[in-house]
Amino acid sequence: MIDIAIIGAGPAGLTASIYGARAGLKTVVFEKNFSGGQMVVTSGIENFPGFIDISGSDLALKMDEQARKLGVEFVNSEISNIDKKETHFVLETSKGVYEAKNVIVAMGASPRKLGLESEKRLTGSGVSYCATCDGAFYKGATVAVVGGGNTALEDAEYLSRICNKVYIIHRRDEFRADKVLQDRVLSLSNVETVTNCVTEDILGKFEVEKIKVKNVKTEETKDIDVTGVFVAVGTIPNSKLVSSLVETDESGYIKTDSQMRTSVPGIYAVGDIRNTSLRQVITACSDGAIAVHTIVTKQ
Ligand code: NAP
Repeated sequence: MIDIAIIGAGPAGLTASIYGARAGLKTVVFEKNFSGGQMVVTSGIENFPGFIDISGSDLALKMDEQARKLGVEFVNSEISNIDKKETHFVLETSKGVYEAKNVIVAMGASPRKLGLESEKRLTGSGVSYCATCDGAFYKGATVAVVGGGNTALEDAEYLSRICNKVYIIHRRDEFRADKVLQDRVLSLSNVETVTNCVTEDILGKFEVEKIKVKNVKTEETKDIDVTGVFVAVGTIPNSKLVSSLVETDESGYIKTDSQMRTSVPGIYAVGDIRNTSLRQVITACSDGAIAVHTIVTKQ
């Protein structure tokens, strides 16, 4: 019997595992891919205290190493079903069935899509959701980043070092991104903002050739020549596995209290998957620590 089964090895899950192992509890992390979650595709993290400038993948590696050193067990498999029994939970995976007294749900969130047919068709042929993964393919090119949050501006900054020109296409004229990031990115000589504009279409038969934008105030449309479109319009929670089990909000984020308890006793939600006002590495880590503290103190 596992004391704490953690689903997802992003910063929230890994921190929970570190706290679980240090509390002397049998702690198992289930992860279908690799440790780090969205951190792995973040170029530089400047706001995790103690690390002045570290790449997301390096921070992920350190957290993973720390968890393993403390005796956390990792199962490289996806959970296909969670069954709630009277005293425990039964987790089904491709590697077998596991029983756990507590479950911490830490599956994070995935990139939101624009919802265009052309976006789907050209994904991998010019449309990308990860500037740090795919940016290198666009050396000297002209690209567009869609979105106005931290991810969009960080992507634009990263791409500005590789590409000749970067357009930031945003549906409003105010950016959601942190002010310090805006000041840095919007003043770059090869970054141009296209504000109050939504993406109507992405043009190109086999590869991206243009992006069609519509000004929401004037209704005017225009095509901009680009060979890459980086979509950075937020995330959606990966909560499908538990959405029929625990309460979620209208967007699918899992509702928790301040102790990370969900509507089902014994199931906790941490990190980007829960409904919270701030989704950062530091807040994900904090959630993970609190969930385990709640379990340990039997609150
Ligand atoms: P976000 O903050 O939710 O921003 C999403 C952006 O996309 C917003 O500007 C939004 O416009 C726009 N948008 C949403 N749906 C759209 C659509 N259908 N069409 C066009 N535009 C659309 O998402 P994020 O930037 O991915 O960040 C997610 C979380 O991670 C945030 O809490 C963020 O602070 C955090 N994060 C932090 C860092 C860091 O601190 N280093 C780095 C990356 C991300 P509106 O503004 O008009 O709503």
